[in-house]
Amino acid sequence: MNEIQRPVLAPPGGEKKVLLHSCCAPCSGEVMEAMLASGIEYTIFFYNPNIHPRREYELRKDENVRFAEKHGVPFVDADYDTDNWYARAKGMEWEPERGARCTMCFDMRFERTALYAHENGFPVMTSSLGISRWKNKAQINESGARVTAPYAGLSYWDFNWRKGGGAARMIEISKREQFYQQEYCGCIYSLRDTNRHRRATGRRPIELGKLFYGMPEEEPAEQGLTPGADGQ
Ligand code: SF4
Repeated sequence: MNEIQRPVLAPPGGEKKVLLHSCCAPCSGEVMEAMLASGIEYTIFFYNPNIHPRREYELRKDENVRFAEKHGVPFVDADYDTDNWYARAKGMEWEPERGARCTMCFDMRFERTALYAHENGFPVMTSSLGISRWKNKAQINESGARVTAPYAGLSYWDFNWRKGGGAARMIEISKREQFYQQEYCGCIYSLRDTNRHRRATGRRPIELGKLFYGMPEEEPAEQGLTPGADGQ
């Protein structure tokens, strides 16, 4: 383990048991190590039916499982119910990132997380999604508040995982672990839009399974439309 210095974290209500919705290993790496350093007992809930195609989904999930096993953290592998995701995204295919489709996408993933938390005795849930600078923190926190509201005794922990050096440590941990580096947010529409942007700027389309943090790149990672970012 590294020598990272962090403040002691305090989940809402002084609780020590948390359900962590994780979108991918790069985003959750810092969140996981920060909670471990504070003695917080947590379980990872991986529910991301937005990720397309299945190969990319498995790549992201496998990296997260590998890191959870390394730290001995329980990992719940939830459904890949893409039919429901597409049903909810219908009519929002051309929404920009951070728009209405993304609100739906956060809501859907968090609703399932909140239900699991409620049914399995977790008083607090949080998410790795907000650590990415490509995401709108307020949009994520509003979703968290919305999905936990129906459950008495369940809170959404809106901790800003980026602050206090968290964003830099996310990259540091990703390089140390040589995590898979996704190059688009996750859904088929973000893949389409990122590739359109890449073509317009003379770059090759995304090749799945190619980039890993800490390894040499043939060309710089995309810096436009939410690259990786659920994760980067
Ligand atoms: S761009 Fe990302 S957050 Fe938005 S709908 Fe697609 S996968 Fe979900």
